[in-house]
Amino acid sequence: LVRLRARLARSQNVFGQGLLGLLSSDRLDDDTWDEIEDTLITADVGVTSAAQIVSSLRTKVKVQGTRTPEELRALLREELLAQINPELDRAVRTGPHGDRPAVIMVVGVNGTGKTTTSGKLARVLVGDGRSVVLGAADTFRAAAADQLETWGSRVGAPVVRKDEGADPASVAFDAVARGVEDQADVVIIDTAGRLHTKTGLMDELGKVKRVVEKKSQVDEVLLVLDATTGQNGLRQARVFAEVVNITGIVLTKLDGTAKGGIIIQVQRELGVPVKLVGLGEGPDDLAPFDPEGFVDAILG
Ligand code: GDP
Repeated sequence: LVRLRARLARSQNVFGQGLLGLLSSDRLDDDTWDEIEDTLITADVGVTSAAQIVSSLRTKVKVQGTRTPEELRALLREELLAQINPELDRAVRTGPHGDRPAVIMVVGVNGTGKTTTSGKLARVLVGDGRSVVLGAADTFRAAAADQLETWGSRVGAPVVRKDEGADPASVAFDAVARGVEDQADVVIIDTAGRLHTKTGLMDELGKVKRVVEKKSQVDEVLLVLDATTGQNGLRQARVFAEVVNITGIVLTKLDGTAKGGIIIQVQRELGVPVKLVGLGEGPDDLAPFDPEGFVDAILG
């Protein structure tokens, strides 16, 4: 976790230092406030949140006559935290409920990191002493199932898969059945992220959910979003949120961008908390999202 914090700090600090530099400038005039707003927007905080942060900071700076770098940092920290909303429940729900396994569906566009996240999450859960079954419901790419199998053998979780082109819902059904049979604690289902038609996606994810509910219940639908894709990624995320009831967001590849403000924007847009963040390709590079740690990483 310490190593992940350092990685987060390295990637996010550019944005924070820029903001603090501007806030500490000799003349906090209209132009400087505009620049602060632009810096927030450039970091993918989103136009609405950026305007709110600036307006609130302006008022507080004026009212309190705040000028020292420490005071300005504290004010900025407060504003960023307020936008992130530390009160949201970010725990990944994993039951237990009786003799049925908890089920987590992992959804999102291809390439965002779904399979990697499914594997890393299995590792975290197994590390906590939970038994996990992985379901390779992304049947459109044989490579996805192979990749999940590699993760499964690495973390000690059986992988249920079928031939390429098989019905994703039937894989999900078998995975949950296997989970029931093995008395596993959690079943993680890696789904396909084909976005060619909205109704196709809706039918597919809807069907996966329905078959899971024949054997257990869906505890979490985690939407995986690649932090480096900005507005485009957000547009795709919106489509997923329209077709399936998302319960949490996993923001991947935060190690590869200084635009961590996307956390604020995606939560605002989808109304769902960021629960996990991906900070690298390795097995231990998935962390619970910690708002305070995140803001401190930004502000250095
Ligand atoms: P999927 O198509 O959504 O299942 O995506 P994959 O899990 O195959 O991931 C796509 C690529 O992104 C792979 O090369 C992963 O190693 C990489 N990746 C996934 N998560 C992260 C992350 O948090 N950080 C970095 N740097 N790379 C990641």
